[in-house]
Amino acid sequence: MSSKVVHLVGAGPGDIELMTLKSLRLIKEAQVIIFDRLANPEILKEAPEGCEFIDVGKTDGRHPVKQDEINEIIYQSSLKYENVVRLKGGDPFVFGRGGEEALYLLERDVKFDIVPGITSAISVPAYAGIPVTQRGVVSSFRVITGHEAPGKAVSQIDWNSFTTDETLVFLMGLHNLGKISRNLIKAGKREDYPIAVISKGTTQNQKVVVGTLANIKEKAKDLETPALIVVGEVVNLREDLKWFDI
Ligand code: SAH
Repeated sequence: MSSKVVHLVGAGPGDIELMTLKSLRLIKEAQVIIFDRLANPEILKEAPEGCEFIDVGKTDGRHPVKQDEINEIIYQSSLKYENVVRLKGGDPFVFGRGGEEALYLLERDVKFDIVPGITSAISVPAYAGIPVTQRGVVSSFRVITGHEAPGKAVSQIDWNSFTTDETLVFLMGLHNLGKISRNLIKAGKREDYPIAVISKGTTQNQKVVVGTLANIKEKAKDLETPALIVVGEVVNLREDLKWFDI
């Protein structure tokens, strides 16, 4: 029986030092790396000579390579190579579609393993000086899709379910920032409720804009993807805790 395994690997949020030792080892051993748009393409320099690179990068909202095709590319690579790395930003199972890819391989009797990565959902706020939980401020956090596929996602969200006792982290939501803040206001959040948008977090190009639900769309209009949105009182802690982009 072949020992071949497809590794579904999280690359972390951007700062190359936030990769795991395991992900780095697997990249150094890879014969092929199938990757998305990564916050830090420098990671690919760690691959050995002769490694094949397959870019299946998706830009926000648009999917140049469809998920079905990506699944098939991974599968075909597993027939060709022993060391296949499917590399994803952050963590493969946090809005990374790693589950779908694993199921596709499972159905074809290809072994896989999952190498978790540091998700942007918590590390990007951390680099902006925003703890997603804070004793006495909030007792939980939620990670939510901010991407609206036609007829789905953002409009499916139960906006009334969000409380002020939790931090909301929206991924893939930059283009829907206005809609997200409007929906939160409609669901009863104060117009001056704190919100931050963090672009290119954990990298040298990190930009953070802090505002209120009422004014964030205008304030953050020049920010570029990848960006995530943090909503809640913890955003105010940035004033004291910012340490990276000071
Ligand atoms: N699996 C990834 C998330 C994939 S969805 C993870 O665990 O981090 C892609 C979204 O992640 C982007 O639209 C953005 O909202 C967020 N994101 C990823 N890297 C980011 C970064 N460096 N800075 C800000 N947001 C980031």
